[in-house]
Amino acid sequence: YTLIEASFPEDRSRVALEAPGRSHGPLIWSFARLASTAARYAAFFAGLGLVKGDRIVLQVEKSPEALCVYLACLRGGFVFLPLNTAYRTDEIDYLVGDAEPALVICDPSMEEALREITARRGTPHLLTLDANARGSFMDGAEKVRDALPAAVCAAGDLAAILYTSGTTGKPKGAMLSHGNLAANGIALRDVWRFTEDDVLLHALPIFHAHGLFVACHCALLSGAKMIWQQKFERADVIRELPRATVFMGVPTFYTRLLSGEDFNRDLVRHMRLFTSGSAPLLAETFEEFRARTGHAILERYGMTETGMNTSNPYDGERRPGTVGFPLAGTQVRVVSDEGAVLEAGEIGGLQVQGPNVFTGYWRMPEKSAEEFTADGWFKTGDVAMIDVDGYVHLVGRAKDLIISGGFNVYPKEIEELVDDMPEVLESAIVGVPHADFGEAGVAVVVLRPGQMLDEATLLARLKERVANFKVPKRAFFVESLPRNTMGKVQKNLLRGDYKDACR
Ligand code: ATP
Ligand code: MG
Repeated sequence: YTLIEASFPEDRSRVALEAPGRSHGPLIWSFARLASTAARYAAFFAGLGLVKGDRIVLQVEKSPEALCVYLACLRGGFVFLPLNTAYRTDEIDYLVGDAEPALVICDPSMEEALREITARRGTPHLLTLDANARGSFMDGAEKVRDALPAAVCAAGDLAAILYTSGTTGKPKGAMLSHGNLAANGIALRDVWRFTEDDVLLHALPIFHAHGLFVACHCALLSGAKMIWQQKFERADVIRELPRATVFMGVPTFYTRLLSGEDFNRDLVRHMRLFTSGSAPLLAETFEEFRARTGHAILERYGMTETGMNTSNPYDGERRPGTVGFPLAGTQVRVVSDEGAVLEAGEIGGLQVQGPNVFTGYWRMPEKSAEEFTADGWFKTGDVAMIDVDGYVHLVGRAKDLIISGGFNVYPKEIEELVDDMPEVLESAIVGVPHADFGEAGVAVVVLRPGQMLDEATLLARLKERVANFKVPKRAFFVESLPRNTMGKVQKNLLRGDYKDACR
């Protein structure tokens, strides 16, 4: 079931990937080079004794070779398990213990720490790979000349385990099958109209669904070219954008691009598509982007467990503050706490079903069972509303919902009001323990440069707009909100920081 490779264009001499700026290792990769490298890597893994179903943990900098390790896993039936490069020893120790891989590939800078962990955990193999095609993995793989014939994998066979971002708790390993990945890749390629004339500027990390599956599958499944940047550097993106037709980003990429006048209509005149996801795109960013460039950013919604679920339309109105319609083959519904399916306009838990939805969490059978309904829908943990036109609006995460004096407060409603204040750049509303109300909202606010606003004024303004129980009890002003690599605001950290604010 090597769908990804089978879909490479007929003419495999076409360029699949450019990796400018590397000091060592190939800069230009044809589809033929990607395919043959993956087949050699797969043979190398088999030579180490790995068999179908074995996990390969990869914690390395982004490189074409790292992508080839992923493709080698698809080919050989090994299970690809990428780790966030920000994880340090304790986190890696837990994850290696959880995944029980047959092989760990790490950055040379982490080798010593990993040597200790893999020895203690009994991992058979540890190899290194850096961003420039050097390390013991490369030394070993380069000696292999033959290709591993593609393994026979059924649609239901495990292809990858990706850990969730850990925004609401400990990261969970989502088990994704070959069928999950293929279905979602094809749905996205088609809905976003990818063709082999496209050039995708790829600045996302590849240890998450966004950069690995959404971005790479769209390009690989359509024969398009990718220009790879090791990470998002504003100046590098500005330099390469004139050669691209599509760009995918998290919302912070867009606010950073907008932060300088050199990002303008002329620079992106030839672009076909900008997409955003992983975290909410502020309506204000959407509008500013449109005013500056003439482009409407296409916002979509997904999660590690499901790949992408919804997308704003390619043709037709892209509505800011919404994540659009379900993808082909995917169904969504909004359900009350009691499990009743709600009408348009009503707020409740968002559930999804479709060929993109994962099979369960790795070694967490109880948790997996809990997150599915009896009739097979996955509970996303996101709170949403579907409007009369069918657009899905995300209201927040169930875990971020604040219950104050028995009333539900949706943080996003209040955040939008705070963000609308002219002095405010952005805000987060979190629930903290409160002596009387059980829980109360606290506003954590970032002001625009040079602006002043005090707590009393901010709270008084909110009182004029919404019911008292929704008004945060306190407001704090900070330099910036804590964000993880995907630009998600880490509300769990804020809840910890302000846990005593209302006692
Ligand atoms: P964890 O499950 O470990 O707490 P996480 O949910 O942040 O972490 P991911 O799977 O990376 O881990 O992220 C999926 C979540 O990201 C979704 O459930 C949703 O809350 C959020 N998300 C994704 N796209 C969007 C979007 N366009 N707008 C708002 N939120 C989004
Ligand atoms: Mg999640």
